[in-house]
Amino acid sequence: MRVGIIGGGVAGLAAAYHLTKQGHFAEVLEQAPFLGGQASTFDVFGGRLERGYHHLFVSDTDMTELIHELGLGDGLAWLESSVGFFHGGKVWDFATPLDLLRFKPLSVAQRIRVGIWTLVLQKTRGYRKFENVTAKDWLISHMGRMGYQVIWEPMLRGKFGESHDRIGMTWIWCKVRLRVASRKGAGQRERLGYPMGSFGEVIDVLAQRIGEQGGVVHTSAAVSQIVESEGSATALDVALDGAQSERREYDAVIATTPSYVFTRLAPPMPKEYQDKLERIKYLSAVLMVLVLDRQFTDKYWLNIADPDMPFVALIEHTNLIDRKLYGGKHILYISNYPSRDSDMYRKSAEELMDLFVPHLQKINPDFDRSWVIEYHHHRVDGAQPIVGVNYAAGIPDHRTPLKGLYLANTTQIYPEDRGTNYSVRMGRQVAQMVMDDGPA
Ligand SMILES: Cc1cc2nc3c(=O)[nH]c(=O)nc-3n(C[C@H](O)[C@H](O)[C@H](O)COP(=O)(O)OP(=O)(O)OC[C@H]3O[C@@H](n4cnc5c(N)ncnc54)[C@H](O)[C@@H]3O)c2cc1C
Repeated sequence: MRVGIIGGGVAGLAAAYHLTKQGHFAEVLEQAPFLGGQASTFDVFGGRLERGYHHLFVSDTDMTELIHELGLGDGLAWLESSVGFFHGGKVWDFATPLDLLRFKPLSVAQRIRVGIWTLVLQKTRGYRKFENVTAKDWLISHMGRMGYQVIWEPMLRGKFGESHDRIGMTWIWCKVRLRVASRKGAGQRERLGYPMGSFGEVIDVLAQRIGEQGGVVHTSAAVSQIVESEGSATALDVALDGAQSERREYDAVIATTPSYVFTRLAPPMPKEYQDKLERIKYLSAVLMVLVLDRQFTDKYWLNIADPDMPFVALIEHTNLIDRKLYGGKHILYISNYPSRDSDMYRKSAEELMDLFVPHLQKINPDFDRSWVIEYHHHRVDGAQPIVGVNYAAGIPDHRTPLKGLYLANTTQIYPEDRGTNYSVRMGRQVAQMVMDDGPA
């Protein structure tokens, strides 16, 4: 079969890898001048760094297996992470169950209550019972209002901004289970995985294998239309390297773009399917990456539980990964998930720096702008689907109503949330569906 794949992120490349491994022809069309989509990298002082922080959990077995299959297993390191919680002007350790017991912003009774119910969540199998309740309602009724306001609400606000009180409880349940699966040993410290050549190297080798297996991977290849003929998807209109659009014919098409891009490319869909595509909204990610001449804190991951701070998490990459990879420099991500029409999304790098620096000084009073050697600003659209209640029922099928047209994007990853691991799994599954169905 000849399969056209829109998008050269992890899902598109994983699908192409699987198809070409089974002897089919796959052509990946990526509109950006680089591969990797949300997991793409850029160069920093001789090293490759993800535009948005990236790591793997121990539960990310599909990605881990792929890395080994690509011959990059020796470079996959599993490292102890350090997690903190910025609350009330202080950084609290927040990596182990013991840390929760020592967390003074909650009373002893509140800490025990939060601990017990977190344990219950970890032990609960299956998410269906959480489907029709918001995280806010469930957490308040089980862990108490203070437990919710101090611990969970900042986390939900951090990921979902104004939509935080609409998020389904399934999302929290899954996060808790996956985080715990990454804890090892008596101290229950979390271990995170990182391919030491960066996720960019994994993506490059994946693309190279697709080529060796007979496929083709294009960058700077923007698809403008999915072409329908006699009830089937038969071709794509694509402009390669800014040239005039040309039509390429396929037996099947896999789209890995966000749903709001898919609806622009695809012919009109029946109402029920179209509604599903439109119902799930996304947030963008806005990242500032600071290259520093010294360490900012000793935490890899610092949750910011102060609503007056203009960012939701600080990820100090070089507290997990050896800074030798980046010429000895320290790397600090400042993270936000705003909507595309927000002020935060529109701000320039310089405006964000002016906004952030005084707040960084609240966390580390010694911090001075002179520590910043350089900074990078990245916006990622369609970064985070907003996962509301009864989400499962509204997920669009991978097989679209148009024969030969398949959709594989992050809104369809459930109950787990988006992640490279699940894009690998989804890419492979959808490729298998295409082969099972045969030419349209
Ligand atoms: C800030 C941030 C942090 C993250 N941290 C982690 C982490 O720690 N661990 C982890 O595993 N995952 C993490 N993720 C999630 C992970 O990166 C994504 O889930 C995954 O990379 C999604 O891959 P995808 O292929 O499904 O989608 P995408 O990466 O979005 O790929 C879709 C591709 O389609 C292309 N495209 C769109 N329209 C067109 C068109 N018309 N023509 C051609 N191409 C088109 C886009 O340019 C894009 O490259 C993070 C994401 C973000 C944003």
